[in-house]
Amino acid sequence: MELKKINENVWELPETYKQGMKVKGNIYLNDELYEGLQKDVFEQIANVACLPGIQKYSLAMPDCHYGYGFCIGGVAAFDERYGVISPGGVGFDINCGVRLIKTNLSKKDVEDKTKLKELLNEIFTNVPSGLGSKGKIRLDNNQIDTVLEEGVEWAIKEGYGTKKDLERIEENGRMKEADASFVSESAKKRGKPQLGSLGSGNHFLEIQYVDEIFNEETAKVYGVEKDQLMIMVHTGSRGLGHQICADYLRRMENATKKYNIKIPDRQLACAPINSEEGEAYFKAMSCGANYAWANRQLITHWVREAFEKVFKNSYENMGMEIVYDVAHNIAKKETHIVDGKEKSVIVHRKGATRAFGPNHSEIPEIYRPVGQPVIIPGDMGTASYLLSGTELAMEKTFGSTAHGAGRTLSRVKALQMYKSSEVQERLEKEGILVMADSKGVIAEECPEAYKDIEAVANVCDNSGIALKVSRLKPLGVVKG
Ligand code: 5GP
Ligand code: MN
Ligand code: MN
Repeated sequence: MELKKINENVWELPETYKQGMKVKGNIYLNDELYEGLQKDVFEQIANVACLPGIQKYSLAMPDCHYGYGFCIGGVAAFDERYGVISPGGVGFDINCGVRLIKTNLSKKDVEDKTKLKELLNEIFTNVPSGLGSKGKIRLDNNQIDTVLEEGVEWAIKEGYGTKKDLERIEENGRMKEADASFVSESAKKRGKPQLGSLGSGNHFLEIQYVDEIFNEETAKVYGVEKDQLMIMVHTGSRGLGHQICADYLRRMENATKKYNIKIPDRQLACAPINSEEGEAYFKAMSCGANYAWANRQLITHWVREAFEKVFKNSYENMGMEIVYDVAHNIAKKETHIVDGKEKSVIVHRKGATRAFGPNHSEIPEIYRPVGQPVIIPGDMGTASYLLSGTELAMEKTFGSTAHGAGRTLSRVKALQMYKSSEVQERLEKEGILVMADSKGVIAEECPEAYKDIEAVANVCDNSGIALKVSRLKPLGVVKG
């Protein structure tokens, strides 16, 4: 069945696409992205549209691709009174997200490649990375519970950063609903040794420079200027989040039966938001989110240390402040306008970034004139984007936008087609140094494995669900 193209950047999936759809689907794309899309993504968007209490539309962002239950790039909001919450709408890596740290250094400061190498080496040594990597701190049982309930506040108390950091993080780095008694012992056991580690695969730590500014006014508010050196951190809740998701998927399967919820796909297992199971998952998911924010905070601390060592200066002097930190795998209780009235909803963003517009009370005061910073990584060889949230996103997508370029090749396929050493050499010729812990990861994560970040950023910008502020280009990449 053909989708209806509403305008240059929005395709509509009609309610007649599949029996049981309660709302339409809306997908943000351009012609090229539409052509390249596997059609099973439409099925997933239609499936989500069948869930009880869904509001307005089942949404997909321009980077959407097939995922567990919900597509990656999927956004759906459910009525807080009679809607559902679904772990498949959050994903396994709870609060996987991106943090952008600025500096007052410029591209010139690392023009000397031995300097860049030294810096990358120092970061690589100071920040644990790789599959199953272990952090440098040791937590006992009480401490892990504090991390889960306090998030970045715990990290600040322990000396990993300052109060100012808190203001520049979505939710100030702490979901208040977190309750560690809802997280299994096995999840905590996996999480304890891994706190403060990057992990592997898609997760990365990148030194970038500001290549182009698209909106001078907003860039100024964010403290961003041309040629400025930036650090981007992408990681999540490691084994802990994965275990929480697995634990609750099992529990949700029973709940789906218990509450007699009809789901078109088992992977959409869910429970009413206000049920025992729904509330339990939300509390546990919030713990996962707090862990991920604390994780990015520790990594920030060690990146600052690495810069201090290499440049023999303090991180404060080098202006190493957080621009912002966004979650892109999460469910949130928010208020949105539905049918002209304010409504409490649970917004699921699964591979999607919050993009709140100007004057929203949930964003840092300094950013209110221009809207929330939105961070969209591209790939290790091309570019990444900084954008700003909009009023239109509030109206059309529950304040959400894309979260990345999105995969186009599976890991297996990328591994068959490319060789890590060759990709590494090619990038080095282009002036990009890549370091990785595991052998195949550079091939799996090569630029060709991802869609065109320019197309994704342009769809966001043209459709108005986030506006381009600046393009960031990679100089040095640490992959797990
Ligand atoms: P996800 O969390 O869905 O795995 O990844 C988010 C996005 O990060 C991907 O869609 C991809 O566009 C981007 N990405 C993955 N690896 C890298 C990298 O090494 N560098 C940059 N800049 N972006 C990356
Ligand atoms: Mn991610
Ligand atoms: Mn992740």
